[in-house]
Amino acid sequence: MTGANSKDLICLNRDCPDYRKRNTGNIIKKGFNAKGNQMFNCKTCGVRFPETKGTVFYNRHLKEDQISSRR
Ligand SMILES: [Zn+2]
Repeated sequence: MTGANSKDLICLNRDCPDYRKRNTGNIIKKGFNAKGNQMFNCKTCGVRFPETKGTVFYNRHLKEDQISSRR
């Protein structure tokens, strides 16, 4: 069901040196949370986040929201 590749994931921690960098190889799969969502872990900063928060699509959606709200 999930087509997310860990290489396409980015770290959402603003304090992380690899924040929003793609294909750095710093994002690894880290089991599942209580809801059964795939969890990922940034090796650079150690932050864990669910798949839905780290996908490229999620961020693309955010940008569209920001653009539309400005106009
Ligand atoms: Zn990080």
